[in-house]
Amino acid sequence: MTGPRTTSGRGRLFDSILDTVGETPVVRINNLAPKGVTVYVKAEFFNPGASVKDRLALNIIEEAERTGALKPGQTVVEATSGNTGIGLALVCAQKGYPLVVTMAESFSVERRKLMRMLGAKVVLTPRAEKGTGMYNKAVELAEKNGWFLARQFETSANADIHEATTGREIVNDFKGKKLDYFVTGYGTGGTVTGVARVLRKERPEVKIVLSEPANAALISSGTPQTRGRMHAPAASHPSFQPHPIQGWTPDFIPWVLQEAIDGKYYDELIPVSGPEGIKWAKALAQKEGIFTGISGGSTFAIAMQIAEKAAPGSVILAMLPDTGERYLSTPLFDGIEAEMDEEEIALMRSTPGYQMG
Ligand code: PMP
Repeated sequence: MTGPRTTSGRGRLFDSILDTVGETPVVRINNLAPKGVTVYVKAEFFNPGASVKDRLALNIIEEAERTGALKPGQTVVEATSGNTGIGLALVCAQKGYPLVVTMAESFSVERRKLMRMLGAKVVLTPRAEKGTGMYNKAVELAEKNGWFLARQFETSANADIHEATTGREIVNDFKGKKLDYFVTGYGTGGTVTGVARVLRKERPEVKIVLSEPANAALISSGTPQTRGRMHAPAASHPSFQPHPIQGWTPDFIPWVLQEAIDGKYYDELIPVSGPEGIKWAKALAQKEGIFTGISGGSTFAIAMQIAEKAAPGSVILAMLPDTGERYLSTPLFDGIEAEMDEEEIALMRSTPGYQMG
């Protein structure tokens, strides 16, 4: 008989919470993958802010410190659907920069509260003005107050950090091992662009699969994005419709993503519906104990589609960008009630003591 599992620590002490960003585990799927195909997920909820965007937040701030674009104590401002804001908030808290976030009112309440908990100010913008509205508000505030605008959708600091960390981690973790497909969606496009730079060079056999919401299939439409100053969008993309996959596909094609489109960094582009993503996020939680958000579920939905058709022995890696805890107030939790259901009430009544009224 063997005893309980043991652990031995990380063998180092961390100087700052910021040193814990990245190095997320690649984890095998054991119960949901079809027979003969191996599916892995890269679990970005292991980051300190529980999302992939901690990587970019840290690099935007440190790159600006390196170039002098950000001065000590200067206020940082950014438009974000949440995870970048949470990442920036923890980086700014640690480094002592005030942070103002602009966010459309449509994104989940958890996100606002988390950013405020981490010391940021959150300025809401009208739902009808979509992503471009919150972006333009951030620009206005930066220009009026002389604040540092993080520009996650345009800055080279975004894809660069995914090339230097996310992509590098994948190549190292799969060293000497088979990898046939890498699956991801896009918000800014930082993940796909950065990871693809590395895979195209060092693992050219890996097929890169990009996904986008079926009802906001901006890239699939073939309509190019109109751009204004500093490559920012000049207007909302005509193919955009509101979709439930928070963090994916804003109402424009980001400049950071444009490199992946122009450079043909993906081999397939497969749309996915919000309900399908939610279904697979629930399956991951309930059959694997892996708790990710709607974008993770959507990425995994595509991974499972590929797995169904892939040659036996294929190996697939799917990105899981954030934690499911960020979605308590969203359709991800529809049907997950706070009150007892019939089965739970029957269990309660099945023994004599401690009964609720
Ligand atoms: N999923 C979620 C939940 C996100 O917040 C983001 C980032 N906006 C993404 C996916 C996409 O990542 P990227 O910006 O690197 O394309």
